Amino acid sequence: MKYDVKSENAEEFINHEEILRTIEFGKENAHNRDMIEEILEKAKDAKGLTHKEAFVLLSCEEEDLNEKMFNLAKELKLRFYGNRIVLFAPLYLSNYCVNGCVYCPYHAKNKQIPRKKLTQEEIKKEVIALQDMGHKRLALETGEDPINNPIEYVLESIKTIYSIHHKNGDIRRVNVNIAATTIENYRKLKEVGIGTYILFQETYNKKDYERLHPTGPKHDYRYHTEAMDRAQLGGIDDVGCGVLFGLENYKYDFIGLLMHAEHLEARFGVGPHTISVPRIRPADDIDPNDFDNSINDDIFAKIVACIRIAVPYTGMIISTRESKKTRQRVLELGISQISGGSKTSVGGYDEDLEEDNGGEQFDLADTRTLDEIVDWLISMGHIPSFCTACYRKGRTGDRFMSLVKKGEIGNICSPNAMMTLQEYLCDYASDKTREDGEKLIQKMIPTIKNETIREKTRGWLEDIKQGKRDIRI
Ligand code: SF4
Ligand code: SF4
Repeated sequence: MKYDVKSENAEEFINHEEILRTIEFGKENAHNRDMIEEILEKAKDAKGLTHKEAFVLLSCEEEDLNEKMFNLAKELKLRFYGNRIVLFAPLYLSNYCVNGCVYCPYHAKNKQIPRKKLTQEEIKKEVIALQDMGHKRLALETGEDPINNPIEYVLESIKTIYSIHHKNGDIRRVNVNIAATTIENYRKLKEVGIGTYILFQETYNKKDYERLHPTGPKHDYRYHTEAMDRAQLGGIDDVGCGVLFGLENYKYDFIGLLMHAEHLEARFGVGPHTISVPRIRPADDIDPNDFDNSINDDIFAKIVACIRIAVPYTGMIISTRESKKTRQRVLELGISQISGGSKTSVGGYDEDLEEDNGGEQFDLADTRTLDEIVDWLISMGHIPSFCTACYRKGRTGDRFMSLVKKGEIGNICSPNAMMTLQEYLCDYASDKTREDGEKLIQKMIPTIKNETIREKTRGWLEDIKQGKRDIRI
């Protein structure tokens, strides 16, 4: 197979030989100070790096240069996204699944767990529970099962979610994480107004991928790896990539992930909207020790920093799989979105639905409530944001990317973050969070550079206190 970044064939745009060559190149240059400094210099322009350059940084074994790299990641994060952190929650619709993924307790052969699929009535209850926490943005999750979870069920569920308005609650953006599907189905998802289509690759190594997915449609490496191309062809221009770190060799997957981003950019003119960095966690029937590729916290932090530097325009997501400590460390290195108050089981949010829900897809390391997470972010000077403005304003795909690449998105993110935080403080926050949040907003208003927007934001924040909702720019 040849390496071709624009190819339609996954084995050419994620090319095995090219990855092996890159690993070798990184090894050879781990102490090549001149080369590493040159790459860091180039990275300062924030135009991104190639997979090869990024991997040299990941391989760097020079302590002072690693320090420089971490500082650059922090700087780029602030330059592009400011200090807002967007919050979301996963919503599990169904744990029926026909696949055999060996690392997931929902795999078809696991007969120990009860299977559950939410009815539309139950979805309403879950959504109201999420709205009452303060969430505005969801990531929909469901196993792959054409009989129990056909596309029609997913579409109907999305419509249900958008239709529910409880008190001041709204779900304003539904991102969708469902199995690889057809262009036609992606078109249908686009029509019902999804935000980002998210699909994790798990691992880019074809051989390992096939071993980890021994049965079911997910076994087909090419069909899975080419899913983002079909999503783009179906009109979804915000796609979210990710690998499950710890399943396989992290070096291979790091390079594969960046090659995937390069491919989407080369073929469609727009790289991934987000990159997620999940690490494998324990769950029913799953012991991470069965996978001997687990990565420690230091490597994990370096991966986050290197991705931030390599694709500065891409949002980065970390979930409650990670502990408070780890999340705190990587937040400043490049993460722009986190989940909070999450449940990873079907029917996990509504109190009446909690029984017999088939258990969690994985154990959570961060079990704090959303309010605790909001206050924690505030205490570190981050603005917790419930913003969903871009896609509702038509800023998706290349329109969104061009704003980010010009470094202009931060000017929009900050006022939106303050306004959605203000909504949260009025409607859902505890007294302490409200007090801390108000102080933070007052401190942050003067940092809005554009004077007109700054003054307007002051007015909008007042409007929100008077009861107006969903103001966005
Ligand atoms: Fe099914 Fe997804 Fe779990 Fe695989 S990871 S078994 S596709 S729910
Ligand atoms: Fe995200 Fe756009 Fe809101 Fe910024 S303004 S937080 S990029 S939706």
